[in-house]
Amino acid sequence: MSNTPVNPSRRGFFTATILTHEGREQVKKQLTRRGLYPPGLLSIASAENCLECTGICADSCPQNIISLHSKEHQYYGQPYLDFSNNGCTFCNECNHACPAISHKLPGPDKAIIGKAHLDKDVCHAWNGIICMSCYSVCPDKLYKFDKRRKVSIDQSPCNGCGFCIRVCPASAISIISLNANQT
Ligand code: SF4
Ligand code: SF4
Ligand code: SF4
Repeated sequence: MSNTPVNPSRRGFFTATILTHEGREQVKKQLTRRGLYPPGLLSIASAENCLECTGICADSCPQNIISLHSKEHQYYGQPYLDFSNNGCTFCNECNHACPAISHKLPGPDKAIIGKAHLDKDVCHAWNGIICMSCYSVCPDKLYKFDKRRKVSIDQSPCNGCGFCIRVCPASAISIISLNANQT
């Protein structure tokens, strides 16, 4: 898989524009991927393949969780997963729709997007507020609560589907990629 940035010359431009703290934060955002790759597109998403595409993968996703990096972004045109409204069902529709992929995956497949990570510092259950919102949405019931109602995740079976992200009122959950190129 190639993770070549869409326009490497932009990095120099961004660097040259660093003037204020606000400016630095803005540049950091523009140089950082906004989310992980959709599982069906891991083998293909790259600058060369995506730049001229209108985002067929995004239109194909029944869960509506694929977005494209915007024009001012280092990764302009490349797809990323946005779990703010839904999660991934691993249907592979994105893989089948992408015109740049010649080797199509056979069908629904349990690929691994990443592993859910819980930030105890902000999680309600760890900070004296009763909350179990994540428990019921996880298809594999990986959230466990102890007698004191403190929560933990059984990470090893987690595939990073992201269904737990949307329901967390404290934004305490994130999906950590196992692929170093995506971080
Ligand atoms: S596998 Fe299906 S649900 Fe997941 S990102 Fe692709 S199209 Fe969307
Ligand atoms: S990412 Fe999916 S499988 Fe993992 S804990 Fe969240 S809901 Fe469960
Ligand atoms: S939904 Fe979020 S805040 Fe609530 S217990 Fe789960 S991780 Fe903590």
